[in-house]
Amino acid sequence: MDLAALLDRIADDVAPEIGRGSVADYIPALARVDPGRFGMAVAEVDGGLHGVGDWEVPFSIQSMSKVFTLALALSHGDGVWERVGREPSGNPFNSLVQLENEDGIPRNPFINAGALVVTDELAHHGDAAETLIRFLREESGRADIGIDAEVAASEAAHADRNRALAYFMASYRNMRHPVPAVLDQYMRQCSIAMNCGDVARAAVFLARHGVRNDGSRLLGQSAAKRVNAVMLTCGTYDAAGEFAYRVGLPGKSGVGGGIVAIVPGRCAICVWSPGLDPRGNSVAGVAALDRFTTLTGWSIF
Ligand code: GLU
Repeated sequence: MDLAALLDRIADDVAPEIGRGSVADYIPALARVDPGRFGMAVAEVDGGLHGVGDWEVPFSIQSMSKVFTLALALSHGDGVWERVGREPSGNPFNSLVQLENEDGIPRNPFINAGALVVTDELAHHGDAAETLIRFLREESGRADIGIDAEVAASEAAHADRNRALAYFMASYRNMRHPVPAVLDQYMRQCSIAMNCGDVARAAVFLARHGVRNDGSRLLGQSAAKRVNAVMLTCGTYDAAGEFAYRVGLPGKSGVGGGIVAIVPGRCAICVWSPGLDPRGNSVAGVAALDRFTTLTGWSIF
């Protein structure tokens, strides 16, 4: 498969979709991003890397960070599953309603409530955002990966919903560390800026069933399968059914317009285009992944 040529073709095919949708505006720093951007990169399990368009332009990874924090938390054991479920929510990513029905146990690790629990769990082993940045730098080989300070400040100024979620869970004793510290680490993890190539390289351990780029193992095969499974069922907000239907891969999106997707045994893909559909997924990003699995036949189905 000539992946470089394939990516060129996909970029052409999805050109009419680029700029469609609306840029996230609940965090002011994200609202200023150019909606005409599009980049896509594929990192293969054997180290090959291919990209097209704006694939080397850093953007805000936002909720894609939740895949990595979940994997890092699971690398210390299964404890996190005592505090968070693994069912799709069918509700928006920042919903409070199900928490009350389920005694402060979030439905899954990728809605904000669940991701806050994962960050709290990872915080047992040091600052979660710092742990994540260290991992992302090691996997991508890029030492300058870090936090976009403007996005972080903007998140902190508009975090009432996340604060409410965290304190609500604390009232059910599902926060182990002080809420302000967990929120700070969570908001910094969401504010990390990376480009498509680096995200794909950092995620390829999930295509390698848990083995990192240096050959060491982050996760056992079954934990890696579980992360992929939760991405498939819960990774694209309340549109995971539609994403499975169109793309057929484990994927996690973020409101910055990025989507990371895994083809087990083959590659990790990251696509970025800031225009979002009403459920928060990148319009051109989903279209590009749809084309990718159609043209390669590499959906997991
Ligand atoms: N930092 C965002 C929040 O917590 C992440 C949202 C997202 O990408 O889903 O609201």
